[in-house]
Amino acid sequence: MQFEFSTQQQMMFDRFAELGRQAAASAGQHDAAGSFDRGTWQRLADAGLWRIPVPVALGGLGGTWADCATAMEGVATTAEDLGFLVTMLGHIGSLRIILEDGTPAQQARWLEPIMRGDVGVTAMTEATGGSDLARMRVAATPDGSSWRLDGEKVHITNAPIAALGMIAGRIPSLGAKRDITLFFVDLDQEGITIGETEDNLGIRTSPTANIRFDGARLDPINIVGKPGDGLSALYRIIAFERALYGIMAAGLIENMIAKAMARVEARMAFNRPLADYQYVQGRISDMKIASVVCRLLTYAGLEKLSAGSEDASIVCSVGKFLAGEKLLEAAEHLVQLHGHLGYMNNDLSRHLRDAVGMRIAGGTSDIQRINIFNQMRQQHARRWANDTPQTVAAE
Ligand SMILES: Cc1cc2nc3c(=O)[nH]c(=O)nc-3n(C[C@H](O)[C@H](O)[C@H](O)COP(=O)(O)OP(=O)(O)OC[C@H]3O[C@@H](n4cnc5c(N)ncnc54)[C@H](O)[C@@H]3O)c2cc1C
Repeated sequence: MQFEFSTQQQMMFDRFAELGRQAAASAGQHDAAGSFDRGTWQRLADAGLWRIPVPVALGGLGGTWADCATAMEGVATTAEDLGFLVTMLGHIGSLRIILEDGTPAQQARWLEPIMRGDVGVTAMTEATGGSDLARMRVAATPDGSSWRLDGEKVHITNAPIAALGMIAGRIPSLGAKRDITLFFVDLDQEGITIGETEDNLGIRTSPTANIRFDGARLDPINIVGKPGDGLSALYRIIAFERALYGIMAAGLIENMIAKAMARVEARMAFNRPLADYQYVQGRISDMKIASVVCRLLTYAGLEKLSAGSEDASIVCSVGKFLAGEKLLEAAEHLVQLHGHLGYMNNDLSRHLRDAVGMRIAGGTSDIQRINIFNQMRQQHARRWANDTPQTVAAE
């Protein structure tokens, strides 16, 4: 497991932390306007962020997903903007699916745009429910040698600013038991309409909108993997994104800790700095505990995913669960430790509005709990099935 950065990773972390700092300067303005910081985005892409995990032969830098996470962690530590980080998460799903599951033709068409910073979406949620993905209705129907895609995705990160991305749906003609299919599309094609940008409570720098499909043409190149075989790839993408929430939370919390420390050392109460009081110390210690645990869970999750480990899904869900819960807790501490200054409509309280969304995006906290239990139940059943004959024999 990656407890320490290599020298090269540390350099990468520092470099991207420096670039991320540029997002912090205008995060408040972008939040107020509900706009996306395309300038910082492009600088990160130009610095090679999305090329890191891509093999050199495909135009990348030949690193690993953990290397890419390290660079993203750098951004998370300085950007002070969960929205910007959520946009990175929406985008990286497109990179991962094309790199891991795409054909050479799909990689030739979409890797370069993704790496150069054309924004991507990872679209799963529908009005029928985001938690219960089995209720997805977006569907492709055969039309000669191609398909027509119909239906609507809702609340999709990056939709108003994106050029391309992964759409999860079905091909019902394959039969209900095995019809989940992943599509990859250019969003400017005929038959695809992006809805109005949603007016959200927080994470406002990462615009969300619906994506509507009205007979959008799909050619074989738009199908990722075998038609009807999309479920396992979808689960892998979901688990991968969940793993990354840990570094996002950790980076943001580290930044909050720096602000909280400065405040409690400077602010006097009853003739002593606030930092001298145990209740105050406890809040900041809890923030540090959260940041350490969330960070390590990202790298543990990524390692388990790349090893194909049986409990990868559990670890990724634990990471997402803690990231959502602990970021919200840390944002509350930040506000509380600043008293009324934290309660004003400013960059401190913005973190609290943003953090509420992190418990919903990427699968709610309760859904993570459910996934953890379901995985445990399956593991238990498998072990029980394996153990039973031995137990009986021993008796
Ligand atoms: C900032 C943000 C960005 C997003 N970006 C994307 C994106 O890029 N792509 C995408 O596909 N989606 C995206 N979403 C949507 C998100 O994935 C869904 O909102 C989420 O999965 C929950 O789905 P839902 O809103 O339909 O709520 P529902 O599924 O209706 O759930 C409502 C509540 O019921 C609870 N619940 C549901 N089922 C159970 C159960 N069995 N037991 C106990 N509790 C249950 C949930 O935990 C939740 O609290 C985004 C959401 C947010 C907030």
